[in-house]
Amino acid sequence: MKITLLTGKTFDIEKAFDFPLKVNTSFKIKRLNLRIDHKKHMVVLSMPKLYSKKKAFDFINTHIDWIEEKLASLPAIKDFEDDESISLFGQQVRILYNPDAGAPLLKNNILYVGGQKEFLHRRIKDYIKRESKKVFYQKSKILADRLGCRLTGVSIKDTKSRWGSCSTLKHINYNWRIALAPLPVIDYLMAHETAHLKHQDHSAAFWQTVYELCPTYMESQNWLKKHGNELYLYR
Ligand SMILES: [Zn+2]
Repeated sequence: MKITLLTGKTFDIEKAFDFPLKVNTSFKIKRLNLRIDHKKHMVVLSMPKLYSKKKAFDFINTHIDWIEEKLASLPAIKDFEDDESISLFGQQVRILYNPDAGAPLLKNNILYVGGQKEFLHRRIKDYIKRESKKVFYQKSKILADRLGCRLTGVSIKDTKSRWGSCSTLKHINYNWRIALAPLPVIDYLMAHETAHLKHQDHSAAFWQTVYELCPTYMESQNWLKKHGNELYLYR
């Protein structure tokens, strides 16, 4: 659903936030309503057909804390499993459990994981978090340099409410689940958070910077809109 701000910038509300959002409009809906779809790990806004999109946008913005709290409290339901194929930093990788293998090791698109099987998920998740810290820092640093902005560091978080955040101290937090997205989506999310080093808001100027860093960002937003919630299913 497109919205045009006073600045003249047009964007899609469903893609404007750092969490999965679905907007339903209908003449039958009498008032704005926000709810959380637990199964799909998604925020759903119901809105009367002719309601002001700008007001709906503002409504979501005033409920960000509530939304993040609700999303964070959702149970994740999926564990990594032996023989499962996952996308890791844009590469198709097969998980191979072998009790005798040591620390997780990625070789020829196979992620070898050892130890006790009950800790398989935990070990893979820790591995992805460690690798993400390196990969995401490198990517963000290149983008920050392009913007002439200082980046003090990145941290990897386990939040269930957002893909990333950027502090006023020029530090970026990324969700480890970003590593499971296709490469262009990873690059878009890096561009998004790095652009926040320059613009703390989601203004037209911010989106212009995102565009400069990642001209195909809208396709990645479409992917996130369709599949972003699936990544949150991982525990
Ligand atoms: Zn943002």
